[in-house]
Amino acid sequence: MITRRKAFRGVPVSSGIALGYARIIHADSLRVDEITITVSRVKAEVAALERAIANTVKELEALRNSAGRKIGSSVVKIFDAQLLIANDRDFIEHVRDQILLRKRNAGFVYNSLVRKTTLQLKNSPDQYMRQMVQDIEAVSHRVLSYLGGNQTQSTVPLPRDTIVVGQSFSPGEVMRYRQRKVSGFLVGKGGTTSHTALIARSLMVPVAAIGDSWTDIPDGSRVIVDGTKGTAIINPTDTDWADYQKLRKRQGPAAITRIKKLRKIPPRTTDGIEVRIAVNLEFPGPADEILSVQKIPVGLYRTEFLYLESDSFPDEEEQCEYYRRIAEKFVGSNVVLRTFDLGSDKMLSGLPIPPENNPALGCRGVRCMLEMPDIFKTQIRAILRASIHGNIQILLPMISDLSELKKARRLISLAMFELRKQALPFDEDIQVGVMIEVPSAALTADSLARSADFFSIGTNDLTQYTMSADRANTRVSRLYSPYQPAVLQLVNMAVRAARKHGVPVDVCGEVAGDPLALPLLVGMGVTGLSMNPSRILDVCRLVQKIDSQLVRHLVGPVLASNSVAAVKRKLQSFRNALEN
Ligand code: PEP
Ligand code: MG
Repeated sequence: MITRRKAFRGVPVSSGIALGYARIIHADSLRVDEITITVSRVKAEVAALERAIANTVKELEALRNSAGRKIGSSVVKIFDAQLLIANDRDFIEHVRDQILLRKRNAGFVYNSLVRKTTLQLKNSPDQYMRQMVQDIEAVSHRVLSYLGGNQTQSTVPLPRDTIVVGQSFSPGEVMRYRQRKVSGFLVGKGGTTSHTALIARSLMVPVAAIGDSWTDIPDGSRVIVDGTKGTAIINPTDTDWADYQKLRKRQGPAAITRIKKLRKIPPRTTDGIEVRIAVNLEFPGPADEILSVQKIPVGLYRTEFLYLESDSFPDEEEQCEYYRRIAEKFVGSNVVLRTFDLGSDKMLSGLPIPPENNPALGCRGVRCMLEMPDIFKTQIRAILRASIHGNIQILLPMISDLSELKKARRLISLAMFELRKQALPFDEDIQVGVMIEVPSAALTADSLARSADFFSIGTNDLTQYTMSADRANTRVSRLYSPYQPAVLQLVNMAVRAARKHGVPVDVCGEVAGDPLALPLLVGMGVTGLSMNPSRILDVCRLVQKIDSQLVRHLVGPVLASNSVAAVKRKLQSFRNALEN
């Protein structure tokens, strides 16, 4: 049990900061007893099962409608999938038959058949099948708790400063806890693309994952969760608490509202150099209107998130309509649409991707799309057709060498050729950029820059691949830092190559929104930074305090550092000097 201050470095799941008191939730508190029943009891058990299913369906429908109202259609599909599972008549009939055959209580039979199914799925090499396990477990948990007599899910608001702590929570649980006003979650397991993460990010509720350590947190302890960095502090000192309260004020939803106050966009350094400040988006969301009124560009639209919940691949018309709406919303600025970054942890059902032993090093991003040229071309055609409705740029993820870039560009040219032949208009001058997020791309940035219109440096993956440290694995999070000298050297290399060829270069990984990194990145010569909307205000203000010539002198000494701690120390002392 943790009795003193303890800081955890885990992985980020959903951005934002939450301060509060732990409410420990043990999911396995649901006990399912095995009871032998008489023939005369069978009818009552079957009726109880049907009632439990009906209640679960009712509850899921309510959650689905609430998600639709509060978040939008992109996450409604999560609950649609759970409704399909809950309503699976073949499975229910099977449970019914087994109750009759085995003469056991409904809860026991239902649970054992669910476990049999999930066991098979858990061992499936198919990531999509494995992901389905979470949905099945979420549904069965509800059914079993109704069967156990727990007829109502509590809707009583919890104290606003409650941090819910547990191994993992289903999307429905996140929605319900949010309705009960909890301020954040600390979980054992979680990645940024799980269903739970998608819901949490859409609801803007902070979540960090810290591995098994959550089991050592005593109920009621004071907790700070930093979902942006993926860290947590248990039993924080009063100084921690005060610091994070300030940070929460600067990074919470209020920070997005305060974007309205910004007068100078893009901001300029004290010596008049413009730094393009943009946002990273994944779905249409509540911040869109403020961002578009303030003409803040979208530096990275992760288009794969629009479809992660689809059960079939979206066709050209559907995609075109989606991209057109985005382009029109941000018509005053520009939108960088990144082509599907699928594969590895981001799977879409219906994608013909065979299972891989090492998916992060396998067929993901542009590699995956180049293997499926028809699907890739459909997306490119849809983006091109939408490009007449605004200012769109195309960004290619996970480019590892020049040949991939050339192949992707050939496919874009082919799509353009077809559209011309069909007399369908598009922006003939559309720009095509490259994500620099694998070490090979940074190392060969000089040759990539000759064939790219812009660079966007993805430090999230660049860190993962440079350090060989899975970005979602809490056990190696010690190594996973964009402040690693090796990562910074690669960033610098890519920026220098871009500058040499006059190619604009943005950073769009999480570090772009970190004020600590800002002077260094500007000093290296990045032309833009794309970040979570909650970071815009702070970063814009800080840009206005920086002298672009002065910060160039930071680069040499920082790159010569031999540890993350040394890098951070140098950047912190610069920042202190700037603030004083
Ligand atoms: C990155 O890798 O830094 C990035 C911005 O892309 P994503 O986080 O979507 O992988
Ligand atoms: Mg990436």
